[in-house]
Amino acid sequence: MGKPRQPISGTDYPGTFQEFDEWFSSEKACLDYIAKVRWPNGFRCPGCGLKTDNPSLMGRGLYLCRKCKRQTSITAGTLFHKTHKPLRTWFLAMSFVTSEKYGASALGLQRVLGLGSYNTAWTWLHKLGRAMVRPERDKLMGAVEIDETYIGGIGETVRGRGAKRKSIVAIGAEVRGSRPGRIRLSVIPDVSASSLDEFIVSNVQQGAEIRTDGWSGYTDVETLGYKHIVTNISASGDPAHVVMPHIHLVASLLDRWWLGIHQGAIRASHLDYYLDEFTFRFNRRTSKKRGLLFYRLMEQAVECAPVSRKMITGGHNLHATTG
Ligand SMILES: [Zn+2]
Repeated sequence: MGKPRQPISGTDYPGTFQEFDEWFSSEKACLDYIAKVRWPNGFRCPGCGLKTDNPSLMGRGLYLCRKCKRQTSITAGTLFHKTHKPLRTWFLAMSFVTSEKYGASALGLQRVLGLGSYNTAWTWLHKLGRAMVRPERDKLMGAVEIDETYIGGIGETVRGRGAKRKSIVAIGAEVRGSRPGRIRLSVIPDVSASSLDEFIVSNVQQGAEIRTDGWSGYTDVETLGYKHIVTNISASGDPAHVVMPHIHLVASLLDRWWLGIHQGAIRASHLDYYLDEFTFRFNRRTSKKRGLLFYRLMEQAVECAPVSRKMITGGHNLHATTG
């Protein structure tokens, strides 16, 4: 099996706003598109396994199997499941968040979609954020640098443990030669071993090689089933950006990103969304074509379980960000 074919602008996803408008002009067109992304090799009935190139579409977005008569919802199990809003509105939201260079604000989304309330826009943004990340899937592998950074306040980030009134963000970055591979980011409550352990286990494949500094919060790493390489930065004589070059790069890009979003004026409660979006973009930073990020987000949206507002706002949100 070769590598999957690269999606093509104008064929697999709309390359311009005009194409977007033409492609997604009706609910049926949107449903057809979801089905195409969800079943790229044609719809296969989960009941009897019959493969159909032209399954019959019934009302309410159901495919009817001609053989066993089973009905399959095109949107069940996806981000769009049981939505009360038109699919076209969802698609517009996805196009908007993937086209904004520094990420979409809830206010911006509210304006673009004409949503009645800021809270609705906020909920939408967070649902989309959950489609950008896939916890427990595609964990980091190989050699992985782990460190923490601090973000918040009035737009500056501070490196170094113990910074006050800032959110702590754990960073994991795969080492791929001289460049970082994929990354994971997550807000953590503190830099204790239990918080860092949870971040590592949620984001890094067992057996990987974890590289950290000599912080005591990393003492358990080996017992969790990883190879652990510790570099004592102060003793090594090298500055942190030499010892952990990938983390350093990610943290400085995160700084710039943070400043780009309304000069960092983001509520701490929204930080999870921005980290998800940053991770999504970073891990697809070769996707330069307009529309390709939209397509990638669509691919993930169709495999995502639905998220209720309660799940988003409920309690302590320590979900691991994956991309
Ligand atoms: Zn069937």
